[in-house]
Parts: sequence; structure tokens; C-alpha cells
Amino acid sequence: MQAGPDTVVRFHYTLRDEAGDELETSRGGDPTAYLHGANNVIPGLEEAMAGKTAGDVFTATLPPEKAYGERDPQRQQRVPIKHLIFKGKLRAGQVVQLNTSEGARAVSVIKAGRHSADIDTNHPLAGKTLSFDVEIVEVRAATTEELSHGHAHGSGGHQH
Ligand code: ZN
Repeated sequence: MQAGPDTVVRFHYTLRDEAGDELETSRGGDPTAYLHGANNVIPGLEEAMAGKTAGDVFTATLPPEKAYGERDPQRQQRVPIKHLIFKGKLRAGQVVQLNTSEGARAVSVIKAGRHSADIDTNHPLAGKTLSFDVEIVEVRAATTEELSHGHAHGSGGHQH
């Protein structure tokens, strides 16, 4: 079966930046699963997946506009530290979670003060060209339940 609309794809990946440094990997754990066509993964990765089958190995190199978008220098703000979720001491350069009305989201710390912090709310990977080394583990038909939820279930997918 080929990856496409209404399929669930399970895959291993290693994400690297332009310098080739590893940012994230699924290897050593369970493969990740996503529902194709449901905005579960970034657009460029989904495009690269289309038509692939189990056993396929490839590298997808994605410019920012196909990944997490361009970095917007306007998206900086000062917030009370109590709105941030982090462990240990807050430091510049750290990626932490910001509590928002739409749930927690990753932000980067520009400057940490005693009661407030200057943060950059761009996605930490915005503005970067990313490359994904991908190995497709399985492609299967999505279940009716997965299609109605808009995400994959089971190993590597959404756990309820
Ligand atoms: Zn679900």
C-alpha cells in the first residue's frame, strides 16, 4: 500500500539541521505514526511521504516554507515567569513551554529576569532548513475511528 489520503504511515526518522547536527530521532523507540492528509506532520514531510511504501528509505530536505515557516522577528514578548513551564533555572537560549489559552506551546527564552522573561514565540525550528532521514515501517488503511478523530491510533500514534 502507498502512503496517501486515508492511510496511516508508521516511520522512523532522524531530523537534522543544515549543519547535519541531529535535532531529534525516533530511533531507539517506537516508530512515529501519522494520518496522511490530516495536517499531523509538516507539509513538506507529508509531500515527501506520498506514494512511499513499507521499506522505503529516503531523505527529505525541506526549506523553512515547507517546514516550520520563516522566523518572524516581531514575535517576541515579555511574559511573567509563572506562565512558563520549565525545570531548573531559566536561561537564555532554552526552549520552554508557554501556557496559552490554546494549550502549552514551545517558545525560546531570549532573556530571563527574576519575575519575567523575554521570549520568542516563533517555533524553535522556524527559519531553518531541515532534513529528515526517513524509513517507512508500515503503510495501512486508516480506520473509520482514526479518520473521524483526524489522527493515527495505536503504536506511535495518539493514545487516548
Ligand atoms: Zn483519536
